[in-house]
Amino acid sequence: MLELLLPRACAVCERLLDHDERGVVCGRCWARLPVLPWPQCERCGHPTYGHACRWCELLPAHVRCARSVCWANGEIGLGTVHALKYQGWHRVADEMAARLARLSWPLDVIEERRALVPVPLSAKRQRERGYNQSERLARALADRWRIPVWSDVLARTRHTETQTRLTPGDRLRNVSGAFRARESARNMLRGAHVVVVDDVVTTAATLNACAAALCAGGARIISFVTFGRAPALGDRW
Ligand SMILES: [Zn+2]
Ligand SMILES: [Zn+2]
Repeated sequence: MLELLLPRACAVCERLLDHDERGVVCGRCWARLPVLPWPQCERCGHPTYGHACRWCELLPAHVRCARSVCWANGEIGLGTVHALKYQGWHRVADEMAARLARLSWPLDVIEERRALVPVPLSAKRQRERGYNQSERLARALADRWRIPVWSDVLARTRHTETQTRLTPGDRLRNVSGAFRARESARNMLRGAHVVVVDDVVTTAATLNACAAALCAGGARIISFVTFGRAPALGDRW
């Protein structure tokens, strides 16, 4: 009914959607998504441009693997994430998860991954936004991977400032110790390989803090999956 009254526009470029375009983001924007180029590092999924991987240095040894769909940059890479995160378009999570589901993983990760764990928001931010964007992504991806989402194994121990304007060192200090695994989750976590989900990874400080908390809670090995990845020095996007 609403569609008849209000013509639907793309959440990124605001172009009016054709009748056969069912999504929140138009086909033209999806076609221009700045996907991470190949070749990529087998472990961290970062483009290597034919050199040895430097991005892996961000990841501690208990992190098996990381994957992202696109650069979190430019109109489309940032626009899709913003639509999900700030504009309340949670239906875009399903379109993003369709791209997440096409990422390739080493066989051991595919065989071992027990559950998806979204990065929890602080209670304050969740109240403001009304939902956790990482949990939306996790749920949409879990349907495709046919594994559960464990959305309450991690808790925020404190509210942290938004990471957007912080230097790498400040990001680390800002989130270190900001998460803990709940006591009640110990049985689930024991020995498990779990995949932590976030919308964007920059320095991996937040994901690493989650991974450390999950390992302290009994998990054996952790992988990461995010929709966007911030380009680092030397990346071409
Ligand atoms: Zn568009
Ligand atoms: Zn790497």
